[in-house]
Amino acid sequence: MRAVDIIAKKRDGLELSSAELKFFIDGYTQGEIPDYQASAWCMAVLLNGMTDTEATALTLHMAHSGDTLNLHAIAPFVVDKHSTGGVGDKTTLVIAPLVAGYGLPVGKMSGRGLGFSGGTIDKLESIRGFDVSLTTEQFMEMLARHGLVVSGQSADLAPADGKFYALRDVTATVESLPLIAASIMSKKIASGADAIVLDVKVGRGAFMKTVAEAETLAQLMVKIGHGVGRKVAAVLSDMNQPLGAAVGNALEVREAIDTLHGGGPPDFREHCLVIGGKMLELAGKAGDLPEAKEKLAGALDDGRAWAKFVEWITAQGGDKSQLDQPDTLPTAPLIATVNAPQSGHVAAIDAAEVGRTCVELGGGRQKKGDPIDYGVGIICHAKVGQTLAPGQPLFTIHANDQAHLEAAHRRLLAAVTWSETAVATPPHTLKIIE
Ligand code: URA
Repeated sequence: MRAVDIIAKKRDGLELSSAELKFFIDGYTQGEIPDYQASAWCMAVLLNGMTDTEATALTLHMAHSGDTLNLHAIAPFVVDKHSTGGVGDKTTLVIAPLVAGYGLPVGKMSGRGLGFSGGTIDKLESIRGFDVSLTTEQFMEMLARHGLVVSGQSADLAPADGKFYALRDVTATVESLPLIAASIMSKKIASGADAIVLDVKVGRGAFMKTVAEAETLAQLMVKIGHGVGRKVAAVLSDMNQPLGAAVGNALEVREAIDTLHGGGPPDFREHCLVIGGKMLELAGKAGDLPEAKEKLAGALDDGRAWAKFVEWITAQGGDKSQLDQPDTLPTAPLIATVNAPQSGHVAAIDAAEVGRTCVELGGGRQKKGDPIDYGVGIICHAKVGQTLAPGQPLFTIHANDQAHLEAAHRRLLAAVTWSETAVATPPHTLKIIE
């Protein structure tokens, strides 16, 4: 078999066999197929798609490119969640300790920023000392001891996704339904959770722009999960505007800390309760979603989730003093507010544009391996449906230099659409598929 023939076959819109997919995945993971051939293949998949049979085979080969964990010796039932990628999506930072604090073990592999969307691992790395590169043994030990672990992609678990993920980020090949499904489900299968909640975002700030596309992706991932005996549910939620207020690594950690203290933006708190609630429900710890949400709201408000967060972060090496004094997390030297240029109702805030602005400020990568500036980002003060007077704050920009600050100011003003008539607040949960 030759890599070039497999690329050509996909370029011509033909179906790849499981053996061809295995050859390509193993070859790239082991360094025998170079980045330029893998990039061409990703673009061919993005342009021509895959059948469900191909996407399932791709997922399983990626899942088996490293260890696959069986966690039952240390925990009888482990839950996990994964987002398809959004803007301001710091959900894992809250729901992992929230659900684990409720007594349900959470073992999770997360990713770095991808395209305009942020990544949990980059956010966690803004906490001094936090270790995201865990070996399989460390992953298992954290889970056994603390009932909670979040690790980055490693050489042990789904290493194929680690390589493809970094490549897709900088080759404009993120927005492919089968590549997203395989990336997410390979990690979930390898890291061994019994139940998985998929947080599928829909809209301008998501890779799936329409409910129909998001539903197709959700159904494919649910089918792949069921095929390997996992409990899976997918929650489709609105990502037409950033989630919560903070966009940018350390800013998002601060917002997660507020939320874990019982505060935080209402839309973000609601999102955490829905995703976490679904995890409880799948694990049989609550009869239905309203009951699960109520239980978790109690754990947010009475300090249990916060206590578990501190235990988890410090167990993975994070500096506790930064959690107690969030102002000591990385900051940017220049802070400026963007005010509403007119009065009116906010009709839309282009979340992808807010995400790209954050990447431009230095909060994401332009090419593989670029360093991240953890302190930069944006606070979004307005929400769709709000009515503003001229001069009221729309955004606060945290930047490292004047040129970036001015460019961000222009982009953010253009990201807001105004309406003269009242605009309804968009619903949070659009659909649940299981
Ligand atoms: N999250 C992932 O882990 N992979 C993707 O491709 C998109 C979101």
